[in-house]
Amino acid sequence: MTHRAISILCVLPDQWRDYYLDTFRERLPQARFFAPEDAPVPEDITYAFVLQPPHGYLARFPNLKAIMPVGAGVEHVLADDALPDVPVIRMIQPDMAQRMSEYIVQHALNHLRRLRQIQAAQARSEWKLFVCPAATEVTVGILGLGRLGTHAAGYLSAVGFRVRGWSRTPKPDCDFPAFAGRSELPAFLSECDVLVSLLPLTPDTSGLIDQNFLSLLTPGASIINASRGGIIRDEDLMASLNSGHISEATLDAFAIEPLPASHPYWSHPKVTVTPHCASAALAEAVADRMQVIIETIESGGTPSPVVDRASGY
Ligand code: NDP
Repeated sequence: MTHRAISILCVLPDQWRDYYLDTFRERLPQARFFAPEDAPVPEDITYAFVLQPPHGYLARFPNLKAIMPVGAGVEHVLADDALPDVPVIRMIQPDMAQRMSEYIVQHALNHLRRLRQIQAAQARSEWKLFVCPAATEVTVGILGLGRLGTHAAGYLSAVGFRVRGWSRTPKPDCDFPAFAGRSELPAFLSECDVLVSLLPLTPDTSGLIDQNFLSLLTPGASIINASRGGIIRDEDLMASLNSGHISEATLDAFAIEPLPASHPYWSHPKVTVTPHCASAALAEAVADRMQVIIETIESGGTPSPVVDRASGY
């Protein structure tokens, strides 16, 4: 990066600020990075790297060229009605899909091999017979066949699971059964033994996993949500877990984060809570991606992928 005039505003929660800013300053010494309280006159800021910026805040910077949201989800930025009309560019990093697929395979196998029940039996010093199906007898349905969903599909297939997927637009070239749109959702769900959510949170997907949706899964199905909490109606999932229709849930993302200490998910015997760690936006990889984005824009190009504001992802 050769442009000294580049000033990047970093709007980050306190606990992440030093982690990102220290790495950015070390890896991209030609650029200047500012936390909001240290920012120079608003006119000097040309790029913003943000997580949940206060609504209306980014509109104060008239010379912004691009907004770079932390992580793969962008709903926390698009929720701002006064968002400046500049490209919102996704911070795709090479190892994000790898890490996510590791998480999905790990928890799909935990569900398959009944790890929660085995651990509960161990806690009681109980020697018990656990008979589990082979992965080849189990269908994993993936909601969302984007960068993460297609990568996870490959890993799940390699382990032996039967895989199927659902997306907004048809995927005719998929090498597994692929369903698209609301009209094909019941057919997709009807054979899912394990359901994985890798959907973005948008107005279309908010609250998608509700009582009716859950009732269409095979009895005893399990759920892995590694995308966003707002996709699930929590009270409906709790009811399905309590009735036994859903046998188990692994949840990495929640409508409110951190998950409040009083939330029933923490102590539910059929729920595994992970603290939004399925994949991670590592500072070094983010800095490298930021460099590519800025160099592309400064030399007159358009980096991809740019978020489509109409679809919300
Ligand atoms: P992509 O944009 O590459 O893919 C999104 C997929 O969802 C696409 O297949 C898209 O369909 C599908 N989709 C979107 N809206 C709908 C809808 N209304 N109905 C059906 N399908 C829909 O996203 P990524 O794969 O990169 O990431 C997915 C999500 O994972 C992120 O938005 C983020 O929320 C979450 N995430 C979570 C992390 C964690 O650590 N927990 C880390 C990283 C990401 P189509 O192909 O037709 O466009």
